[in-house]
Amino acid sequence: MQVPAPFEYVRATSVGNALELLERHGPESRVIAGGHSLLPMMKLRLARPEWLIDINDVAELRHITEEPDQLRVGALTRHAALLDSDVVGRLFPIVQDAERVIADPVVRNRGTIGGSLGQADPAEDLTTVCDVLRAQVVIAGPGGERVVDMADFHRGPYETACEQHELLVEVRFPIRPRMGSAYEKVERRVGDWAVGAAGAALWMAEDGTVADATIGLTALGLEGLATEAAAVLVGQRPSEDLFAEAAALAARASSPIEDQRGPVDYKRHLADELTRRVLGRALDRAAHPTAVQGG
Ligand SMILES: Cc1cc2nc3c(=O)[nH]c(=O)nc-3n(C[C@H](O)[C@H](O)[C@H](O)COP(=O)(O)OP(=O)(O)OC[C@H]3O[C@@H](n4cnc5c(N)ncnc54)[C@H](O)[C@@H]3O)c2cc1C
Repeated sequence: MQVPAPFEYVRATSVGNALELLERHGPESRVIAGGHSLLPMMKLRLARPEWLIDINDVAELRHITEEPDQLRVGALTRHAALLDSDVVGRLFPIVQDAERVIADPVVRNRGTIGGSLGQADPAEDLTTVCDVLRAQVVIAGPGGERVVDMADFHRGPYETACEQHELLVEVRFPIRPRMGSAYEKVERRVGDWAVGAAGAALWMAEDGTVADATIGLTALGLEGLATEAAAVLVGQRPSEDLFAEAAALAARASSPIEDQRGPVDYKRHLADELTRRVLGRALDRAAHPTAVQGG
């Protein structure tokens, strides 16, 4: 099938209006943002919403706001806007590492952070990035807003804590000092989904030891963070051997499946190698923060 089933279409004017429309049109209504995941699913008849509620006019969902202790990103922020943002590059270069390898400019010009997290595809890159940065997600519903940790937001492939009648409105990234982060992905060809990817963040103590660490994997069969791997780093002075130990643990925590993108052994090798690389780059960035870390 290349043509979606018939549907009705309406444009929301505000968050409140979008919530009203979701309530009015009931369980067969769906929000559409960039449409780069939902429309292909509709064409394949994997999704058959009766109503599409377009949130592209909702300006209050499109912002990147730096506050002293957090960066707030509206759910309708496009991939391209995240890639172009100096503040995102300075605070969280891992986001731009990932954005640079998400699809192609056509997809990045329309696709949104809210749609990416809402879709929760197991090979989707921003979920790992948000996990690693210990982001929180703000969900609006008829009863008001609630703030959900990424660990509780992501409930498995294609499933999140955002109910059908709710709207993801914002992603919040905590800002803490002496932090470095990085993401690296292996893809079969430019713009493809990940064969495997890893992300890491390191928060350094003043004495040069690791105060806190997170490691995540994409498309490698790990739900949430590689906690055991990150735990061996905490309280230690970084070294190649230490990073190798953490990377081996991350690979052991992975549970990849064989598919057209590669066999299990190869993917486990990627988990190990990519974790080692992103830890090294995160440490370098923690030690040498620059005005803009986009490069
Ligand atoms: C060719 C191609 C290659 C791609 N490659 C990659 C890749 O390598 N890595 C990667 O990570 N992604 C990739 N993507 C996906 C891309 O990043 C999409 O933009 C993203 O998955 C969905 O964002 P969207 O805004 O288009 O969401 P939509 O398609 O509009 O929506 C997706 C889902 O999220 C829901 N939703 C959207 N916004 C909200 C909201 N604010 N609140 C609640 N629910 C909401 C929708 O109802 C729908 O269920 C690719 C897409 C294409 C077409």
